[in-house]
Amino acid sequence: TKEFEKLKYETLKYFWGYDSFRDSQEDIINSIISCKDTLALLPTGAGKSLCYQLPALIQQGTCIVISPLVALMRDQVSQLKKRGIEAEFLSSELEEAEAETIFNNCKDGLTKLLYVSPERLANAQFLQNIEEVEISFIAVDEAHCISEWGQDFRPSYQNIKTFKEQFKDVPCLALTATATLKVLTEIQSKLGLKNPNVFQKSFRRNNLNIVIEEISDKYQRIYDILRLNQKSGIIYTRTRKEAEELTYFLSSKGISNVDFFHAGISPKEKMAKQKKWINSQSNVLVSTNAFGMGIDKDNVRFVIHFSPSASIENYYQEIGRAGRNGHQSFAFMFWNQQELNNFDQILANQIPTKKEFTAIVSYIYSAFQVADGELPEQTFQLHIDRVKRFTKYSTPKIKNVLNFLHNQELIFHNEYKSLSTLELK
Ligand code: ADP
Ligand code: MG
Repeated sequence: TKEFEKLKYETLKYFWGYDSFRDSQEDIINSIISCKDTLALLPTGAGKSLCYQLPALIQQGTCIVISPLVALMRDQVSQLKKRGIEAEFLSSELEEAEAETIFNNCKDGLTKLLYVSPERLANAQFLQNIEEVEISFIAVDEAHCISEWGQDFRPSYQNIKTFKEQFKDVPCLALTATATLKVLTEIQSKLGLKNPNVFQKSFRRNNLNIVIEEISDKYQRIYDILRLNQKSGIIYTRTRKEAEELTYFLSSKGISNVDFFHAGISPKEKMAKQKKWINSQSNVLVSTNAFGMGIDKDNVRFVIHFSPSASIENYYQEIGRAGRNGHQSFAFMFWNQQELNNFDQILANQIPTKKEFTAIVSYIYSAFQVADGELPEQTFQLHIDRVKRFTKYSTPKIKNVLNFLHNQELIFHNEYKSLSTLELK
């Protein structure tokens, strides 16, 4: 109805200060409000949060948001509270009395969004309490965590289906930035979505320039980039040791705005490092892939892959953290022949795991992409042969991965190869 349309825009303006929705946001919101199961595939930074936060506000009851990380929940809830929106999250750190207050506020319809971890959905106390809450809909953020294929797999996401069955008429909105057909199908079946409306936005990121360079001295190259560009960025390494060593190297050369981050540091320290980075214009984090999921920092100007990602989906998500504000941004991937040889050697001796396999393919792909520009059939075959040489994987399987790579519509750039400085204006 007309009145409802008005309410949507008024809510958007009042709580967020925005005048318009971005692509597909409105369709997704309409879909969930009309009680349809909905699947939203939008790139990182597209604004998925709003797709459940806004309808939660204009509907009766409480929206249950399932989110994989406490840090994410805390972050979102504090942002919502700042906007004057009643939101809470349940964590194991809460006192019993605090949890009780939260439940009471939900039962009274005061709390519009309740964030919970997937683990909690199997907790008897929680299930008993939630029984008395009127649930508007269930939002599953980072829904790809349910896929065993990706490296963000969280077994506890499987609790969601059982939980949903307890609330048969409550619609479900699943959101993710991962758009492979395989993951999509898995999300649908494992969440038990009924005939969902699927919304997908093009994953092309026109302001993201992918630069793949053959570099023998990666340390020196990174030093040059940072020295000349005082901008905020992320450098991904494969190991904790690499993250620390690179950070020490850069600091010792006088680069003061770098810090490292990985799963081995205390939660408290993690939070401090993350906060410092998020609030700065120029800080650089050197990190393993422990960092980044759900991070919302709009002025990240570059992402550097010191080593290749664990998988191509990871690679896509990781580089997607650059340029969320629409400014020209860069994603660098470095490689050299020696490393490639090391890969070859490792692979000659063993059958790689799925994870290694995807890393290898992305690595090989990146290396070849520079030379080839496009990806014609011939090159395709070259990749396949190369991967086959080292693995027992079948051609169709390799083809799937390569097809996926190709469909990401990423723009690969060649012309930066010889540049020693970059214009990151
Ligand atoms: P995602 O979860 O898709 O990665 P977020 O929900 O974190 O993205 O949103 C990314 C950024 O986009 C946030 O800063 C958010 O405030 C902003 N944003 C979302 N919707 C709109 C809109 N309609 N207009 C302007 N900015 C928006
Ligand atoms: Mg998000």
